[in-house]
Amino acid sequence: MEDAINPFSDEYFMKQALEEAHKAFDEEEIPVGAIVVCNNRIIARAHNLTERLNDVTAHAEMQAITAAANYLGGKYLKDCTLYVTLEPCNMCAGALAWSQISRIVYGASDKKRGFTAFSPSPLHPRTAVVTGVLEVESASLVKNFFVRKR
Ligand SMILES: [Zn+2]
Repeated sequence: MEDAINPFSDEYFMKQALEEAHKAFDEEEIPVGAIVVCNNRIIARAHNLTERLNDVTAHAEMQAITAAANYLGGKYLKDCTLYVTLEPCNMCAGALAWSQISRIVYGASDKKRGFTAFSPSPLHPRTAVVTGVLEVESASLVKNFFVRKR
């Protein structure tokens, strides 16, 4: 017998972020998706928009932080979790530190641009980080994107 899908698991929410990444893929944006969850509720959904907005800072995480703050009516994202399909870059990690987000869950690692390559970490020391959730799906989407571009 198969277990019912837990609607509040990290995998469940990462699937929602992956849906956003697929939207980016279809729009010919580098396929990265992000959502923000607060009290088990999705309060922001976003994907990379650097091409459409002609803005190198329009990463999925940046859009998600802004949308979540708008939703909450305050700039801090305490007690929120960001789910993002790809390891955040240093810029986004810095923005996430400013937001005081309590938890970050990401899928695939980004060896070149990911924040974990930097020391000291740009994140707030109290921010919990979970990695590797739906890693294969997240990574292959990015891989397929660049294969198609070539
Ligand atoms: Zn970024």
